[in-house]
Amino acid sequence: MINIVLFGPPGAGKGTQSMKIKEKYNLVHLSTGDLLRSEIAAGTELGLEAKKLMDAGKLVPDEVVIGMIDHKLKDNKDAEGFIFDGFPRTVKQAEALDSLMEENDMAISGMIALEVSEEELVTRLLERGKTSGRPDDQNEGLIRTRVHEYENKTAPVAGYYKEQGKFVSVKGIGSVEEIFTNLSETIQSL
Ligand code: AMP
Repeated sequence: MINIVLFGPPGAGKGTQSMKIKEKYNLVHLSTGDLLRSEIAAGTELGLEAKKLMDAGKLVPDEVVIGMIDHKLKDNKDAEGFIFDGFPRTVKQAEALDSLMEENDMAISGMIALEVSEEELVTRLLERGKTSGRPDDQNEGLIRTRVHEYENKTAPVAGYYKEQGKFVSVKGIGSVEEIFTNLSETIQSL
């Protein structure tokens, strides 16, 4: 079983690469951002609460995303493995994920971080905003808030996996195929 945490700031290419990794290794893709956007689209109470924070570029509470992942792991008991995209984003979420994996007799194989500079992220996200329909991609100030939330709250999660000897970083600049080749080589070596 392969269970990968794909890590990196907003705009690093986690979504694009997750789709390719999921296909190649037959994994279930769990993106907390996608799950939250589905809640918003369905107009649920949770979605309405989350939307306020997402529109401000802030993280939603740990309990909310941990609960979503818990349900999804239980719904996919027969999966060959998982790729986590945009989760965990805090050390508390990383600890909760380890507990959930253990409860389900699984373990994280490794965290792979996509490395991209802030200026490149801002350029990519403003470009994505022209077609993504995501309100959080359409304003430079908001994009920078998201990048700073990442640096302050999410970057420390890398340390959590480094301590476990499970952290690998991959250059997130280049063509989609080049990055995918590097990621695939890294996955084989986990
Ligand atoms: P993403 O699609 O991963 O860029 O996430 C979009 C937004 O959803 C983020 O800016 C956060 O507001 C929220 N979000 C997604 N995943 C998480 C998470 N694991 N923890 C907290 N907030 C999250």
